[in-house]
Amino acid sequence: MHIGSEQNRRKAARVARIRRLLSGVGIALGIVWALPLTFLGILLAMPILARRGELRLVHAPIPALLVSGPLADFMLERHPFGAMCAMAVGHVVIADRQGLTPQILTHELAHVRQASQWGFVFPFAYLAASGWAVMRGRDAYWHNVFEVAARKAERHA
Ligand SMILES: [Zn+2]
Repeated sequence: MHIGSEQNRRKAARVARIRRLLSGVGIALGIVWALPLTFLGILLAMPILARRGELRLVHAPIPALLVSGPLADFMLERHPFGAMCAMAVGHVVIADRQGLTPQILTHELAHVRQASQWGFVFPFAYLAASGWAVMRGRDAYWHNVFEVAARKAERHA
């Protein structure tokens, strides 16, 4: 019936509006919740930006700031966990200028999402996940559940 379908359409539009609003609130809460980490990321980004660095806003479902530059390349090559192409600190992604591929960006955005879900507890949860992997005789990085999830996101990029 025509009236029925009109009511259904309105109801669906209302549900979609509420869902959009909730997802917006969720993203905003995630940003606030991860703020201590993002602040640390901004502290790391400042010297990079001061030395011919570049800042870009990534318009992903969960937004991120992408920072790169000669100093970022230098820092990532000498990362204490081994050379890497990129790393996420809260909503800040610090990336190598040569090595950043769409897959790596997707991987890092998965870590941004994890940080927005776990907030400032994330680094501790991450280390605990590495510890858990080592306790089971596995690799601290490769078998860390957060890395496994980020690699999975990468494959769907
Ligand atoms: Zn990772």
